[in-house]
This record gives sequence, C-alpha cells and structure tokens, in this order.
Amino acid sequence: MNERPSRPQRADPRDVAELKQLKTDQPELASAVDLQIALVDMQRRVQGRVPLPWIQPDPAWVAAQQQAGRPLVRFGDIPIEWSDFRLTFRQAADILHRFEALDRKDYDAIVALGRDGNALEPTVTAWYERTSGVEGGAGSADRGDEAAGLDQVMLLALRPFLTRCAESLGQRVDLSGWHHGRCPYCGWEPDFAVITPAADRRLICGRCTGQWPFPQLMCPFCRNDDRSRLTSFATRDGKYRVTACDVCHRYLKAYDGRNASRPVMVSVDSIATLPLDAAAIQRGYVS
Ligand SMILES: [Zn+2]
Ligand SMILES: [Zn+2]
Repeated sequence: MNERPSRPQRADPRDVAELKQLKTDQPELASAVDLQIALVDMQRRVQGRVPLPWIQPDPAWVAAQQQAGRPLVRFGDIPIEWSDFRLTFRQAADILHRFEALDRKDYDAIVALGRDGNALEPTVTAWYERTSGVEGGAGSADRGDEAAGLDQVMLLALRPFLTRCAESLGQRVDLSGWHHGRCPYCGWEPDFAVITPAADRRLICGRCTGQWPFPQLMCPFCRNDDRSRLTSFATRDGKYRVTACDVCHRYLKAYDGRNASRPVMVSVDSIATLPLDAAAIQRGYVS
C-alpha cells in the first residue's frame, strides 16, 4: 500500500454550525446535539492526520468479492496508526460515558482494554474481520450484542481511518456489480440513506460512511421487495423520510435530496431525525 498526501482539510465546520442551529430550533435535542458535536470534533481532528490510502485491488479480485457479496477493504488496507487509534478509542469512550451513553462498568472494561497493548490490536482486527465478512463469513449480520458499548467505541475509533479507505476506493471502483444491503467497502449495515434529485436511493454505511445505490422499494436488511409490506412516511416539511419493512420490522431513515438546499450531512441529519426514530419505534419497528 502506497500512501498519497492527504487532501487539504475543509476549514468549514458546517456540520457543527448546523448542529448548533438545530439545538436552538429544537432545545429538546440539546443533549444529543452536544454528544454529536463532541464526536464530530474528535473525528475531524483524527481524520485530518490520516493519509488517503492508495488502495489498488486487483480488478479480478474486486469482481470476485462483489460476486460473493464480500466487501473490499481488508484490515491491512486501513491506514491505521495505533497510537492515534488508541487515543481515539479512549476519547470515544470518555465522550460516550460523559453523555451517559456508556455505563461505568462497560466504560472501565473498555478503558482497560485500551491500555492493554497486547489485547487491543488483535481484538480490533478480529472484530473487523468478523463484522466485515471480507474474508468470508456472514459479516455484520451475526455480530453479537453482548458488548454493545465496545462495538460502538471500536466503530467510532476506527471510523476516521476506515472513512479514508471508502474515499479512496469510491473514486475508482465500479460498484455496479454490488446489489447488497451491506456496505461494499466495509460490510457494515447502512444507518442512513439519501434520495438523490434523480429519485434514486443511496445507502450510507454506519461505520465507514461510504455510499452505494440500492433500490428504493426493497428492504436492505431482508431484501423484501413486496410494496404492500413496505411502509414509508415523511416529515411534514418533506425533508426526511422513513422506509420500514413489515417483514423484518427494521427501518431506515433518509434525507430527501429532491428539493433540498444542501447535500446530506449524516452527522446532522441523524440527530435532526431523532423524532422520526421515536415515531418509527412507536409503530413497532426497530432500527
Ligand atoms: Zn462501510
Ligand atoms: Zn426487511
């Protein structure tokens, strides 16, 4: 893997400005906004130091991976700098704990793992390989939930490095052969979507923030495409939409870009749509 110089950082923290505006407009979201701003700041600081990796996979391997439904980023492709990772891991745990999104017992266990030089690297490597399915296996569908807090901290700590891989590959890999509901880069599930001005849906990975096209009228989690068993509802202003599946009962939120004044910003839009989560959950769906 050769490395190229990183792109200049965007000086404009537009997401932070929008998040602050959101807090003014909807004070009930204040605590979620403050947590998000802390995470966004952390992500930006680390990501600015991560070089854009020059990943050039063999086209035949890319085609075979896509054919097999496996993603493209191998752990060794990730430009991970372990001292930076360790710092980010600790900061993510601190932030989640400070905002009461991580209880004391889980926090202590996670901090201890972060301090253990011999345990952290193999734990993260095995977690990525298991949850991505890049070397085969079931991918994120079989991730255990016994360590939800640890999952969340590893995800946040890996994201600045993994995002660079999706950026690098997204510029030159043909995704037309990818028809899966999981991320073509890292194998994780989508946690948001955007409807383009051409009315196509693009799913957005909850781990690497990579995007890929996926049919509007199909559930990415179970591939149900029976329209009568898909439910969709929008916010009053038409900015956001939820698509929920009446087979597996999962739902996905989307930013409707068809009449929008700006592109999707997941860090903002995922918080602005917390009331939609409540509405979806009230209707019996799960995220
Ligand atoms: Zn991904
Ligand atoms: Zn489904």
